[in-house]
Amino acid sequence: MARIVMKFGGTSVADLDRIRTQARRVESEVEAGHEVAVVVSAMAGVTDELVGWCQQLSALHDAREYDTVVATGEQVTAGLFAIALQAAGVEARSWQGWQIPIVTDGAHGAARIRSIEGKELLRRMAIGQVPVVTGFQGLAPDGRVATLGRGGSDTSAVALAAALRADRCDIYTDVDGVYTTDPRIVVKARKLARITYEEMLELASVGAKVLQTRSVELAMKARVRLQVLSSFTDAPGTLVVDEEEIVEQPVVAGIAYSRDEAKITVRRVPDRPGIAAALFGPLAAANVNVDMIVQNVAADGTTDLTFTLSKSDLPRARQLLADAREAIGYAGITADSDVAKISVVGVGMRSHAGVASTMFRTLAEKAINIQVISTSEIKVSVLIGAEYTELAVRALHTAYGLDAA
Ligand code: ASP
Ligand code: MG
Repeated sequence: MARIVMKFGGTSVADLDRIRTQARRVESEVEAGHEVAVVVSAMAGVTDELVGWCQQLSALHDAREYDTVVATGEQVTAGLFAIALQAAGVEARSWQGWQIPIVTDGAHGAARIRSIEGKELLRRMAIGQVPVVTGFQGLAPDGRVATLGRGGSDTSAVALAAALRADRCDIYTDVDGVYTTDPRIVVKARKLARITYEEMLELASVGAKVLQTRSVELAMKARVRLQVLSSFTDAPGTLVVDEEEIVEQPVVAGIAYSRDEAKITVRRVPDRPGIAAALFGPLAAANVNVDMIVQNVAADGTTDLTFTLSKSDLPRARQLLADAREAIGYAGITADSDVAKISVVGVGMRSHAGVASTMFRTLAEKAINIQVISTSEIKVSVLIGAEYTELAVRALHTAYGLDAA
């Protein structure tokens, strides 16, 4: 017997037929003797519509009322799902976050879960009842409902799995797992049977949008075994687990890319202490996230500083740097938004040399110029011209032996 949290995303509960289908999945887990708790998202498109209504009435709407409105999407699904389970002969009841309660902080619209009172749910699960819990929301210190930010029901499910000490948290979605790279670019991309939390986080932050990043962070911290699988097929998904659970770890798990990149070069900055702080301080204060950074010192005591940022931050960053020109004393700025970041990710890099050099050699063979390089313990990223994105991803996928047979 296992204790399982089953989470269903918006496309998995998009209409009544889909809800019935998922109820049958739950039914078969219950019949297999498992204790099951369900977490649901709003039906596909519902949250977008609710958010739209708030915005139409007032661009600067009260965040507490926004939460009151958008939290209803999950309430509808939870009730319907419980009805579908009951109709299938499974004992079930719906729970809204505040009823459990799932206690959050007071950041309405982007709240974080502080604690979950799991006792009553566990008591009922032990006697065969299935709780159907609204994802995405909880109870704030002001006594009102708070939501967790878009995509937050993944985080609800992981937090509940941690609180209930579940053996597994199954995330049912519209993709059937995590792939070695984007299957739309590389036909030979393979579904990974297992991936580590660290790799999943790196892949998620560089564009593989399967799980809310926060949910993976939480799963890693609380050691919740996550499984990503499709609610449209019965194929096994991808398990996100601890490194120790993966035998024969490949050196490179996957290749991610991001086209949402821009590059700024600040030319001939005086090379003295405090310059980086003067340059990046105002950007940080304006919430402009800087990613890769390179600095080159010239013989004349000046330096060229190149960094990357999100495309949407480019206009703001240029303005901020223009404002700081006199204080910093640089010669000029060039910017380029026709760039892409390609990242090779794998925990095996910690113990294997040569991953970066394979990357550089592979790109050289395709005559792709590398503009910026950055590395972390389990990732090597390069910035290249955007037009080479697909060529680079395909070539690297082959070079690291990831192509499906
Ligand atoms: N319904 C919410 C959203 O669309 C939460 C979720 O589905 O994870 O963002
Ligand atoms: Mg989602």
